[in-house]
Amino acid sequence: MQRSFSKQDVERFFALLRRAEPEPKTELCYLNNFTLLVAVVLSAQATDRSVNKATAALFALADTPDKMASLGEEVVAHHIRTIGLYRTKAKNVVALSRALLSRHHGEIPHDRAALEALPGVGRKTANVVLNTAFGEPTIAVDTHIFRVANRTGLARGKTPLAVEMGLERIVPSVYRLHAHHWLILHGRYVCVARRPHCPVCIVRELCRFDGKTPEAGTPEDTKGTGRRGNRLQQRAGAAKRTAPKAKARVKKANAARGGAGHRKDS
Ligand code: SF4
Repeated sequence: MQRSFSKQDVERFFALLRRAEPEPKTELCYLNNFTLLVAVVLSAQATDRSVNKATAALFALADTPDKMASLGEEVVAHHIRTIGLYRTKAKNVVALSRALLSRHHGEIPHDRAALEALPGVGRKTANVVLNTAFGEPTIAVDTHIFRVANRTGLARGKTPLAVEMGLERIVPSVYRLHAHHWLILHGRYVCVARRPHCPVCIVRELCRFDGKTPEAGTPEDTKGTGRRGNRLQQRAGAAKRTAPKAKARVKKANAARGGAGHRKDS
């Protein structure tokens, strides 16, 4: 039977992730709380990169609920046509913009129930906004966090909500604010779905996954980890490294739209 995580194990797990990436950020580009909300809504079943490509032009035209509502569904749909489910998403983005105007004076509510009452906004989106826009220690369980929590044995659960509750129970408060991003980045770049990069994983010793990929690092083992993934694994004890491509892309995108993206703790 697999050993469960002790308090010390959990502490060590997050300490290692923090050491690799002290200030984890979302890879979604946004200008303000409104564009953050829209970007997160658009990111459902889509990659952050594809969302950023689409929103660069969209947010240049509409960075407030008023402007977005004025664009209308057709124009929004045209801008996000490269993203899956774009018609439904365009409809939701315009509807949530109108709802923000009519219910919240165009502001993003700092309230879970009010957020979840907006079109296209579920618990996961609300958690991201509460965490990134308002600094709440919420954990938004997406496909990456769901996989990492179950694989490692950190917090097993059959549903995202069960995993979220499990993580909330065990993650020490000092790590709670960034736990969401640490786990997402770990799942996106290291503990990937098909063939996790266990040989270079910094939490390998703590992970309870039976199907870890081989210890002996081979070119194949590390193939596809990506520069950011490598950084996550090798940063501990290493001197400062060149900023990864992902970060550079984000900065470039933000600069192109006036340098306001990735506001604050995004
Ligand atoms: S050891 Fe492998 S399965 Fe476990 S967390 Fe690391 S990459 Fe994922």
